[in-house]
Amino acid sequence: MEPSFRAPRGTYDMVYPDSERYEQLLRVAFDIMERHAYRRIITPVMESTELFSRTIGEHTDIVTKEMYTFEDRGGDMLTLRPEGTAPVMRAYLERGLFERGLPQKVYYSGPMFRRERPQAGRLRQFHQIGAEAIGSDDPFTDAEIISISDIYFRTLGLAGYELVMNSVGCPDCRPAYVELLRDFLGGAQGLCEKCQKRVTENPLRVLDCKEERCREATATAPLIGDSLCAPCREHFDRVLQHLETMGIAHVLDQRMVRGLDYYVRTAFEFRFEGLGAQNTVCGGGRYDYLAEELGGSHTPGVGYSLGMERLMMALDAAGIVDFVPERLDVFVATVKEDGREAGLRMLGELRRAGASADTDHMGRSLKAQMKQASRLGARYALIFGGDELARGEVLIRDLDASEQWPVKAIEAVSRTMDLLRDKRNEDGD
Ligand code: ATP
Ligand code: MG
Repeated sequence: MEPSFRAPRGTYDMVYPDSERYEQLLRVAFDIMERHAYRRIITPVMESTELFSRTIGEHTDIVTKEMYTFEDRGGDMLTLRPEGTAPVMRAYLERGLFERGLPQKVYYSGPMFRRERPQAGRLRQFHQIGAEAIGSDDPFTDAEIISISDIYFRTLGLAGYELVMNSVGCPDCRPAYVELLRDFLGGAQGLCEKCQKRVTENPLRVLDCKEERCREATATAPLIGDSLCAPCREHFDRVLQHLETMGIAHVLDQRMVRGLDYYVRTAFEFRFEGLGAQNTVCGGGRYDYLAEELGGSHTPGVGYSLGMERLMMALDAAGIVDFVPERLDVFVATVKEDGREAGLRMLGELRRAGASADTDHMGRSLKAQMKQASRLGARYALIFGGDELARGEVLIRDLDASEQWPVKAIEAVSRTMDLLRDKRNEDGD
């Protein structure tokens, strides 16, 4: 039978065990960020449309065609967040986080929305984690933000990636470079249709175009490195030095510009092998003028965001399947009415004692209940019924060892909890 409804195009349901793997990956990331002294921030999934249109850039792909924007019933224009940095900066200003002392280092996670053409690694609702360090323009802060992802990837056992670095300059030096580039592009032959439009609106993005003919047409284009002002040059050199000191390998690519207008100076991407066209798992950069754009005072900042779906693709491509689904501690199997009553009482006691436990919900036979127990990955089954129960006993079955033995019913909970403790120590978790 065809169901009447499907998840909207470009969205999907994360079903267990994938949903649990996702949560586990989040926990590892949160733990790393907390060890770097970043604190959690949770902002709304919708914001006023202008927050994004004003900061991301009116000619960017996101703002011109990817935002989910709607007028609500009160006439307010709202947008489902396509990214996390502008909302965090808005919250920083609105909630006066600066009063708590600088820098403010925060991290977020959650769904983002962009109406793109769905394909492998490109969804309309995807999930990001990210961090922002607000208030510092120290090049070490850039390196710290970058190192978080590097540590995360290493922790997960990922190796086949490349950190790509660039400086995209600042309001002092970039405008002159953009003019230089626009002049060059004005005379360039064979640009793709999109890039012909970009020449006037967003010339930096032409350098980033994946089309072969655009690559050829821009092979001799002026690059930003030669146009950086001395302070940008020095800042970038120091970021690279810090990466060196931290032992984080990187390559330089002056064509790498990010899709958001608010980036200045540092821009970076982590690219993975084996992911096809969507090989950027993580990206970020510095945004020293974003706060002013939002009506705040001058506040430098730097951040990253990392796509969880692409991270999971990278883990799959690397054959890393170290995720161990949660097991159930105890399945309470019951036979007949009196067994059921005693069993359900014991189930409640086990759950209150902290064990993960379940029982039969379908009125199944004992044999079918044991099948369900192994489906749930239960370590032990407690079997209530029959002759044992009449003697005031229950059977404990170790499902890993396929052994069973009777215990006194009144001791069943404490005995089971002891067994679980021992098993946990054995498993080392
Ligand atoms: P891309 O180059 O793939 O278009 P982007 O530059 O638009 O990425 P950012 O805005 O920097 O990406 O977002 C950071 C990360 O979020 C990306 O590196 C990617 O892992 C993830 N991401 C971005 N857009 C999508 C999407 N539509 N579907 C899945 N993941 C995405
Ligand atoms: Mg994009």
